[in-house]
Amino acid sequence: MPKTKWTQIEEVMTGEFTGKTIHSRGWIYRTRSSGNIVFMMLRDVTGVIQATVKKGNLPDAEFEDALKALIESSVHITGTVREDKRAPGGYELQVTNLSVVNFAEPFPITKDQSPELLLDLRHLWIRSRKITAILKIRSTVVGAIHSFFRDQGFYEYDAPVLQPNQCEGGSTLFEVKYYEDKTYLSQSWQLYAEAGIFALEKIYNMGPTFRAEKSKTSRHLSEFWMAEMEAAWMDLSDVVSIAKDEIHYILMQVLQKNRKDLEVLGQDIAKLEEIASSEFPTITYTEALHILKEKEGMGIEWGKDLRTIEEDKLMNHFKTPVVVTNYPVEIMAFYKPKDEKDPKTALCFDMLAPEGYGEIIGGSQRSTDIAAMTERLKEMGEKVDNYQWYFDLRRFGSVPHAGYGLGVERLVAWICKTENIKDTIPFPRTLLRFKP
Ligand code: ATP
Ligand code: MG
Repeated sequence: MPKTKWTQIEEVMTGEFTGKTIHSRGWIYRTRSSGNIVFMMLRDVTGVIQATVKKGNLPDAEFEDALKALIESSVHITGTVREDKRAPGGYELQVTNLSVVNFAEPFPITKDQSPELLLDLRHLWIRSRKITAILKIRSTVVGAIHSFFRDQGFYEYDAPVLQPNQCEGGSTLFEVKYYEDKTYLSQSWQLYAEAGIFALEKIYNMGPTFRAEKSKTSRHLSEFWMAEMEAAWMDLSDVVSIAKDEIHYILMQVLQKNRKDLEVLGQDIAKLEEIASSEFPTITYTEALHILKEKEGMGIEWGKDLRTIEEDKLMNHFKTPVVVTNYPVEIMAFYKPKDEKDPKTALCFDMLAPEGYGEIIGGSQRSTDIAAMTERLKEMGEKVDNYQWYFDLRRFGSVPHAGYGLGVERLVAWICKTENIKDTIPFPRTLLRFKP
């Protein structure tokens, strides 16, 4: 028997199959019957189409199955494509054969469910149109990150997930039993990347990252994917301009590949296009405080980190992402060096997204001063001995270098305009949830 040729819904919507009989397979998205007709919405990965099942057009037993099949049943359908202005997408299938692959049980997700229930039923909810659209965009973003760096001669380089040290502060470490010892899940690829640049010079990675975030926010996951880069012979301004190019590149790719998905999500495509073709400004932390003071009437003491509320107020004054550099050195991680031109500040940056999505990138030049780093680690109560291997990188052919990390889920949340970061990853892990 010849293999069946399956036509995808997206292909039907091109009009190319009008008047022709096709084979389609997918899941029942919605169904209702009226007398001798069953109106089904069928979905596959590419879209949804109306399938009209009329008694008499197909064997009676198959019509009975169509009446019985509940939503999320999987089906094979043979039908003729007809143009119908009233149908969603403008085409419908007139069904001549229907075979139910699996009769679904009553689907537990109905309209207007609470977010918590949708997370309990995440394994079923990921097939919703909303999550499907987000996951397609996420796939484009991840692919774009790889091609962006590879096209510029960066090597992909992996760090261990089990690490003996902290990188971003002890309070968010996940401890893991390691035989008779203990280690931690990676908070960042960075320290190991700093070893890699002496071999490969320009490297990047995208990998799972773990932080035991103790507060509940719509921006923090306990397990997320960070896309990081590190490069020898680069300074702060070099990596800031790579970060801006990267975001522009990712936006262009999404606009090219995911227009339909952005529409499903109700995102404003013209606005994203405008952002993709605009320059992103760079300001300093001190300038950010001025803006907050002048335009928002918020007096922030110099030296305090910007909290979510301040980042959001600041971003009221920008339509595009903004890079903020030179945060106060004492609130920065131990490896961020001070700026000799303004020694109270560090050679570091964050990129903030507009519309309340907050920090999407954090990065810096890296300190090459062993004494300064030792002092900072001691202040933090760290065992300095554990960092001797890291200090060796400053002892054997040290070079200026810099890098940054991009939060994949934060970026996807902003691009998709989703209110919660949890919807940007198939199975979110948070303070309160590690199931299913
Ligand atoms: P925040 O202050 O928002 O917690 P951070 O300063 O701890 O962020 P970095 O250590 O600079 O973040 O990490 C680089 C990027 O990784 C951030 O800009 C953000 O996009 C992402 N990121 C950090 N923590 C999380 C998290 N818990 N969940 C999701 N993404 C995160
Ligand atoms: Mg954090």
